[in-house]
Amino acid sequence: MTERGDRKAEGRPQARAFPERLSQAMGERGLKQVDLLRMAAERGEKLGKSQLSQYVSGKTLPRRDSLGLLADLLGVDAGWLAGAPEGGGAVTREQAPAAPADTPARTAEGGTATASAARTHEEAIMEGTHMPQRQFKKSSKLDNVLYDIRGPVLDEAYRMEDQGVHVLKLNIGNPAPFGFRTPDEVVKDMQDQLTECEGYSNSRGLFSARKAIMQYDQLKGIPNVDVEDIYTGNGASELIQLAMNAFMNEGDEILVPSPDYPLWTACATLAGGTAVHYVCDEKADWYPDIEDIRSKVTPRTKGIVVINPNNPTGALYPREVLEEIVEVARENQLVIFADEIYDRLVMDGKRHVSIASLAPDLFCITFNGLSKSHMVAGYRIGWMSLSGNKRIAKDLIDGINMLSNMRLCSNVPAQSIVQTCLGGIQRGQELLVPGGRIYEQREYVYERLSNMEGVTVTKPEAAFYIFPRLDPERFHITDDDQFALDLLKDKHVLVTAGKGFNWETPGYFRIVYLPRKHTLHDAMDKIEDFLSYYRQ
Ligand code: PLP
Repeated sequence: MTERGDRKAEGRPQARAFPERLSQAMGERGLKQVDLLRMAAERGEKLGKSQLSQYVSGKTLPRRDSLGLLADLLGVDAGWLAGAPEGGGAVTREQAPAAPADTPARTAEGGTATASAARTHEEAIMEGTHMPQRQFKKSSKLDNVLYDIRGPVLDEAYRMEDQGVHVLKLNIGNPAPFGFRTPDEVVKDMQDQLTECEGYSNSRGLFSARKAIMQYDQLKGIPNVDVEDIYTGNGASELIQLAMNAFMNEGDEILVPSPDYPLWTACATLAGGTAVHYVCDEKADWYPDIEDIRSKVTPRTKGIVVINPNNPTGALYPREVLEEIVEVARENQLVIFADEIYDRLVMDGKRHVSIASLAPDLFCITFNGLSKSHMVAGYRIGWMSLSGNKRIAKDLIDGINMLSNMRLCSNVPAQSIVQTCLGGIQRGQELLVPGGRIYEQREYVYERLSNMEGVTVTKPEAAFYIFPRLDPERFHITDDDQFALDLLKDKHVLVTAGKGFNWETPGYFRIVYLPRKHTLHDAMDKIEDFLSYYRQ
């Protein structure tokens, strides 16, 4: 189903009433999420940041206690807040309708579950009975999992689009909608092989695909990779999740960059482990801060994630920085997880160095794929390569094999084009040099942002993201999401707030500079104008 289709499957009006009323009450009182969190803390009440953000986005409906607390903090009637019809009887915190626990707004089928907390006589009538209905909660494993790139601000953008508003989307790194076409040769080769791709393949993938990946790894100097060490996946995403599931135990820690591509933190958390964030330093071209990495290592640390080239900063790490990371991994016997999905999208004549090539004595897993380099994000094809010292990871590899077998195989037609894409001349390189679209669009966006009052920005060297900073003295940004929402509402421009990348300092946001220059021109004008008056 399309994103829009999924969203439209969202359900019944009464479950929507709660987030609307919550926003209304907060708006009327000029309260932001941080204010509610602070007020709850001052009262010694428990109200979590992600819990509140899920209420505001309408993803979760609160149970009785939380509903009562919110109503108290906002000075509104709990029944009204829960969605009772206007003018309904007053309900105190004690009387607030009961729900067994926080209730997800959506069921697995995509419909909206009825929240007990929001049960009104309206629902009782609809059901024709006063019998309590069983409620289904999302798994508590998801409590601390966030993926805000497709989060509440995007939901608001869709709501606006439903009302006929044209939104300029600078939020998702998806090349196809911006006119980046898959090379004809690739489409043709997939077409020709389609009838041969009807069955499951080997669970790791087709031999021809894995051989091509192995040869690619050889060219990048990644040591000790056999065909059997390569696993294809439905995008690198599937394999990130698979690897984290195979690797992490409860209590284990893994070092993950901040800012990060948030799937890593989400998957490490979902797998039961803890993502401990190390800082990438804006003042040092967003390179990882080695001292910070060292300071975050504990006896529970098992691995380190390195995203190079980086999303969201567009940084490309030099060999010396990678060598230092390898040294920390070596000293502490860590597994290196290298996300290199942007390694073929490097500009300014620079060369990408695979961190695994510097660590033959360590166990490394390198992730890559065709989504970005060959503009086939929708085909879903990525891979991971196990390299280096595989002897120390025999048991882990058994686990990886088991999980790989359990998902049978990845999308076979998409595997069939790997050889075409990785062999021969690398198409797409012309986009990355002067005159090429990605290069020129980067130059333009960087130039425009650099000249905006109160904005500082580091020039990205790879991928198609830029991560500007708003001067705190000038803009006083305390709530990133609010900034993204206000920009969306005022100017119809959609960006992703820094918080969505596990970046704690407010006032940062990511722009995807894939749209054509005239669209970027429009977006930059709007952002510039917005920043001329916006303050928090
Ligand atoms: N890694 C990074 C750093 C990304 O930015 C993305 C997608 O944006 C992925 C992995 C996932 O890519 P895919 O699942 O399309 O291969």
